[in-house]
Amino acid sequence: MPALRWGLVGASDIAETRMVPAMRRLGHDVVAVASGNADWAATYANRNDIGVHGSLSDVLARDDIDAVYISSTNEQHRPQTELAAAAGKHVLCEKPLALTVEDGRAMVAACERAGVILGTNHHMPGSGIHRAIRQLAADGAVGRLLAVRVFHAVMLPERLQGWRLGSPAGGGVTLDITCHDASVINPLLGALPTDVVALATHQGPWDAPAEDAVMATMRYADGALVQTHDAFTVKHAPTGLHVLGSDGAILATNVMTQDPIGTVVLRDAAGEREIDVPDRQDLYEISVGGFAAAVRGEADRPVVTGLEGLQAAQVSFAVRQAAETGERVAIG
Ligand code: NDP
Repeated sequence: MPALRWGLVGASDIAETRMVPAMRRLGHDVVAVASGNADWAATYANRNDIGVHGSLSDVLARDDIDAVYISSTNEQHRPQTELAAAAGKHVLCEKPLALTVEDGRAMVAACERAGVILGTNHHMPGSGIHRAIRQLAADGAVGRLLAVRVFHAVMLPERLQGWRLGSPAGGGVTLDITCHDASVINPLLGALPTDVVALATHQGPWDAPAEDAVMATMRYADGALVQTHDAFTVKHAPTGLHVLGSDGAILATNVMTQDPIGTVVLRDAAGEREIDVPDRQDLYEISVGGFAAAVRGEADRPVVTGLEGLQAAQVSFAVRQAAETGERVAIG
């Protein structure tokens, strides 16, 4: 696996808890961290054993960095991607890729213009378990796909109960979790929904302006329906994905998660059996490794491209608009 020299853009929790460990397990170098807060950058660099810290322009000016991993708050994704691309750095950007379709398109265009790879760090689509589910569906194991149900209602950990609950920087469960659902459903169904209805609400023990629970129903051009339930407020429910077809059902439990866990059961006329999923590689390693392979020309694309990240975000935008307006929202 080709190693990269990384600059972190954003001294974030996800970089510290998942991505830096994944990069290092794969033998990559984490060279520098850029943060808007100099004291925090120093603390973060020290506790994560990163040799260099500074501003974004300091980090982008270095010639010992091949790629940046952007995990800042969501409103910074576009400007930071544009600056990184202009500096000739490949970009792996966190989800939601952008806060508007226009921003997402500008990010894709900036990276194309600069000739750098843009990937989106959706961790689920590349996982062994979701690849196995897509393969079953593509092989016709359940016949014609009629419906998908996504169970992604979880409890937001206390350490993450900050900007997600309300800042204008892309807070709210719809931007945070529904785009993860879409990152899984879009490649499974091979399309975006044509239209969406949704309701969102406030349920948590916090006094926060952003919605913390949302249910949506999406319709596809071929007549398939998708139902999603995303929440920051549910403590003890398993996550899951049900793929319902004309001839069978795939029932996957504990698979909408950050870890390579979960089970897949196939039910059809022959009965019920668990599907073996041998690939249990760490989901963030898969994302980093696939991105590096694309940078080195050993793969023709990262695991999730910039455009696919934008398409996942587009579903979140439609769901949020539907919930805010009470209207059915078309995705054009
Ligand atoms: P954090 O809240 O941990 O960090 C976001 C930013 O807040 C940091 O980049 C940093 O700003 C600032 N910050 C954080 N802690 C401090 C502190 N103690 N003092 C000063 N500033 C601080 O964000 P998350 O890790 O929860 O999320 C970051 C991004 O990653 C988001 O886009 C999110 O959607 C995505 N994400 C993706 C996940 C996945 O599985 N793919 C999972 C979790 C998040 P600065 O940029 O200036 O350094």
